[in-house]
Amino acid sequence: MKAARRPWCALVGAGPGDPELLTLKALRTVRRATLLLVDDLVSEAVLERALRGRRRAGLRVVHVGKRGGCRSTPQAFIERLMVSAALAGEQVVRLKGGDPLVFGRGGEEAAALRAQGIEVEIVNGITAGLAAATALGVPWTHRDHAQGAILVTAHAREGAAGPHWPTLAAAAAQGLTLVIYMGMSRLDEIQAGLLQGLASATPAALVEHAGLPRERRRLTTLGRLAADARELGSPGIVIVGPVLGAARAGAAADAARAA
Ligand code: SAH
Repeated sequence: MKAARRPWCALVGAGPGDPELLTLKALRTVRRATLLLVDDLVSEAVLERALRGRRRAGLRVVHVGKRGGCRSTPQAFIERLMVSAALAGEQVVRLKGGDPLVFGRGGEEAAALRAQGIEVEIVNGITAGLAAATALGVPWTHRDHAQGAILVTAHAREGAAGPHWPTLAAAAAQGLTLVIYMGMSRLDEIQAGLLQGLASATPAALVEHAGLPRERRRLTTLGRLAADARELGSPGIVIVGPVLGAARAGAAADAARAA
């Protein structure tokens, strides 16, 4: 008698939106899916590339988005769906924006699945904060300017306090680049908090839709962060720190060439 296969589920990083930044492993893992749950941060182009050549028979694709203020698919529902489908023998693949374990609750999903004895496979993706820095042409860590980087979300879970921005400013002043996720609707608060420990001339940048054709970038300073972001929106990444000096120099050179 054939032994029953252990229930299996994969959390796969789709990267920031450019299909060419999907990993080979992500493509291979998506091909195993009988049920594909797609996060709303996954671009159409990525989904199209991931499914190219895949027979649609025997594959269900479900969008489980939560964007635009409409909390359409509660997290608990998504987790229950993943668990029950995997236990029923489906090959469940959850395709998530960026890296599955950088914010975005991949860790909670993995724990819920493992608690039910489901094997969890995790496939890395390029996280949005890294794609944003690359869009600006700067490293998180240039050894002349930064010894490390802090990835931080501006969005605390319900009932919890958000990050203490003055403390993060102190860390940044010691040479750590700040890479801020989920901050686009809290720029006033971020700016005011960071200005308690950093000069207003500290370089800052915003990248909306990093890695996508509609990407938009702003190079600015901490003192002008909120004012300069007015026409930008989500999803976006805020980067703060002297590593951005090189991006400024590059932009100035581009402007001089264009003039
Ligand atoms: N797991 C994802 C992050 C999910 S949290 C990752 O690793 O990238 C959602 C936040 O990620 C958004 O609020 C935004 O700050 C950021 N984000 C996701 N995709 C983005 C993109 N293409 N451009 C800029 N920011 C993005």
